[in-house]
Amino acid sequence: MTISSAMPTAKERPRRTRSKRVSNLPPLKLSQLPPSHIDLRDPLKAVLVCEDCSTWCPITGINSKVQKVVPHHTGKAGVADAVHCRGSNRRIDWDLTIPQWHQALTDAIREASSRAATAVLPTAFSPQTDRILRARKERTPTGRLADWNAVLPRMAATDEHRRLAVAGAAPAEARSVPTDHLTIGGLGS
Ligand SMILES: [Zn+2]
Repeated sequence: MTISSAMPTAKERPRRTRSKRVSNLPPLKLSQLPPSHIDLRDPLKAVLVCEDCSTWCPITGINSKVQKVVPHHTGKAGVADAVHCRGSNRRIDWDLTIPQWHQALTDAIREASSRAATAVLPTAFSPQTDRILRARKERTPTGRLADWNAVLPRMAATDEHRRLAVAGAAPAEARSVPTDHLTIGGLGS
């Protein structure tokens, strides 16, 4: 007998269910949710953020009388443990039309972006950032040339290597290896 048996992982959420079960929780009023927690762009694939587990859940019953949040586990499918969310089968009070939802979302986005515009103020550099920026500015052409010269021997070696012919017959179908290369003299000016 094993002491610890592996816990099953959360199941993929169904898009639609025929379950007659209804949660005891009061119906979720769409108008009471943040518009960004609802996605009605494709009504047949409507989803909302479950109030209990804060994850996106499909809405079932779009074409029937009662709309509900599909039964689901709280965590990510295949990763989290299979824990039933109490928000499963919760009824939805459809007190918002799709155009109303769209308008509310647009307003919320506009409101958020105007808030961000005023909140972003120029901040002073930290001493560390200041040092880095200054060091970068102080890179002189002489310094750059020294860096470049340090790399040249490696480049020359690579070019030399490329020029070596591989032993054996050339492959019949492959394109030939390019043998042209930039010469060091061609780079500086
Ligand atoms: Zn949930």
